[in-house]
Amino acid sequence: MKINHHPDDATILAYAAGAVTEGFSLVLAAHMELCPHCRNRMAEANAVGGELLSELRPVAMSAGGLDNIWSRIEQEPEVAVTQPAVPAAVDGVPGVLTPYLPEGLGSLPWRSLIPGIRQYVLGGVESGRGSVRMLSIAPGTTIPHHTHMGGELTLVIKGAYEDETGRYGSGDLADLDDTVGHQPVVGRDEPCICLIATDDRLRFSGIFSRMLQPLVGI
Ligand SMILES: [Zn+2]
Repeated sequence: MKINHHPDDATILAYAAGAVTEGFSLVLAAHMELCPHCRNRMAEANAVGGELLSELRPVAMSAGGLDNIWSRIEQEPEVAVTQPAVPAAVDGVPGVLTPYLPEGLGSLPWRSLIPGIRQYVLGGVESGRGSVRMLSIAPGTTIPHHTHMGGELTLVIKGAYEDETGRYGSGDLADLDDTVGHQPVVGRDEPCICLIATDDRLRFSGIFSRMLQPLVGI
């Protein structure tokens, strides 16, 4: 899998600091499962975060203070760092998503939004004013041009789409903020299935699209 599009530095840092919604965390964890490059960036962000934290923490020193600190550190039991177990990827779907899609992609209860676009909303994921959903978009479909009130993370699971910022295939992550408008067009060969997290509502640009918004509920 050749991945060409990754989250921004600011997004990685926010994720490392625990400052993103659960929905964003899920999409980022799914991307990192597929992307060694971003797993490394995440490790670096965690290291930087730890250093900043240690600089921010004031320590009142007294006579013999440093010795006290060292003896306290030595008394701390060593903690074995273990990664939480991630279920294996099934059918190209990252393992972190399997608890939300226990039956796999094939038997998801998709709901049709508009012709060519079906969605499945992942329930029980904290997303602020936004949402986390899977979209299955028919080959050749154009999504109405829109911008975002907040951020939008899109991870392509299967298929591909193109917009003003490039071509996005399996494993690619589009990291858009409220300054970017786009009009994704799905490739003609196969449907595009992607996982999309927003932390606020989308804002469609055209009048017709704005009329669609209450119906679509995005
Ligand atoms: Zn990446």
